[in-house]
Amino acid sequence: METDLLIVGGGPAGLMAGLLFARAGVSVRVVEKHADFLHDFRGDTVHPSTMDVLGQLGLLERFLRRPHQRLNRAELRIGGRDMVVGDLSRVRSRTPFIAMMPQWDFLDFLRGEASAFPNFRLDMGTAIERYLVEDGRVCGVELAGGECVRAGLTIAADGRHSLVRRDRLLPLTDLGSPIDVFWFELPKRTAEAGTLRIAVEGGRILVRVDRGTYWQCALVFPKGRAETLKARGMAAIRAEIAAVEPRLGNIADDLASPDQLHLLEVSLDRLKRWHRPGLLAIGDAAHAMSPMGGIGINLAIQDAVAAANILAGPLARGEAVDHLLPKVQRRREGSTKLIQLVQKITQDWVLAPVLRRNKSLRAPPLPLLVLERFPALRRIPGRAIALGIRRERVCLPGAYAA
Ligand SMILES: Cc1cc2nc3c(=O)[nH]c(=O)nc-3n(C[C@H](O)[C@H](O)[C@H](O)COP(=O)(O)OP(=O)(O)OC[C@H]3O[C@@H](n4cnc5c(N)ncnc54)[C@H](O)[C@@H]3O)c2cc1C
Repeated sequence: METDLLIVGGGPAGLMAGLLFARAGVSVRVVEKHADFLHDFRGDTVHPSTMDVLGQLGLLERFLRRPHQRLNRAELRIGGRDMVVGDLSRVRSRTPFIAMMPQWDFLDFLRGEASAFPNFRLDMGTAIERYLVEDGRVCGVELAGGECVRAGLTIAADGRHSLVRRDRLLPLTDLGSPIDVFWFELPKRTAEAGTLRIAVEGGRILVRVDRGTYWQCALVFPKGRAETLKARGMAAIRAEIAAVEPRLGNIADDLASPDQLHLLEVSLDRLKRWHRPGLLAIGDAAHAMSPMGGIGINLAIQDAVAAANILAGPLARGEAVDHLLPKVQRRREGSTKLIQLVQKITQDWVLAPVLRRNKSLRAPPLPLLVLERFPALRRIPGRAIALGIRRERVCLPGAYAA
């Protein structure tokens, strides 16, 4: 074997897994196709569940020294009313807030910490061409240049366009999604600060997050309409944004070109089986989540922790781990399915009808009125988003499952 563990993809799942397995003494090689972390437009929410993991690793203080903003509540404007829909202030965690940090900073942080282990190797700018299969077992990968790398175990952390999906190495269930999103930045023109705000008006939904000097915005629209919207021209898009969220102020000069609108094609799917001999998929490669709740990064991290807790000890001792791979799926699949069910119900029963309706709502829907009436209930969505459903705890080195 050239390496005990080969990880494809240097995103949150791949780098956290690399760090955890290297910490347990496994020789790890991570291959990432991009030469840097700045390549893509991605989410940048680090939730309390992820910061708890960093705390267990003794890395939290160093992480929090990096520039970030802190969010502890979500506000919604709907049916002419402003309401608070998520409150994290009483979540039981050392960090009862969402840290907003650009994903490239977070990845750079993980890379720095993992690189402290001599048995960790990261190859940036190295794409894999395919997974190598011999007698039904995945035994490594072929890199884009033709070089083959053999590994005791290969982890697919290559995101929702993973080659395990393209090459049908593992079967996929597509749950469908009726929405797509334009993702863009707007400068701050008003004095509002420190929050995440969702505005619903006239069949449009706009989410904006305070990023210090600018608003990170997401305009939600019915799936497949991106080109039609762009064809109507930037003036029409600016008018829609101003109508749904007048508090953004005059944005006329700031959204001038369609190039500023990054399209996020929302997917909701998961692998039926996350493993086969020699191969385990984690993070988006195993389950693409809807952007609702901003939980994709945090689920990817939880998968990495579960995988390391179950596999790192035996791998470090040079033992075979194929029989343990189903255990990782069993550990993570239940909470993934439950979160996807909530996302599916919300997107199909709430978001899609709102987007189909061109008129403004006269009043917020009943569940929101209940949340408004009983403030303690707001902590439930806040807690679920902050901590997730099944939290993983990092095993100490030496305490990994046999
Ligand atoms: C616009 C947008 C906004 C989002 N907002 C949020 C948010 O606010 N909060 C949140 O938690 N989540 C958000 N997400 C989702 C979040 O980014 C993902 O859930 C998360 O990044 C998944 O991590 P991952 O490591 O599994 O996969 P990815 O982050 O997709 O990482 C996969 C890595 O594999 C690499 N790779 C792919 N193919 C190959 C190959 N052949 N060879 C080598 N390397 C390869 C890719 O370059 C990439 O670096 C957002 C996503 C998008 C697109």
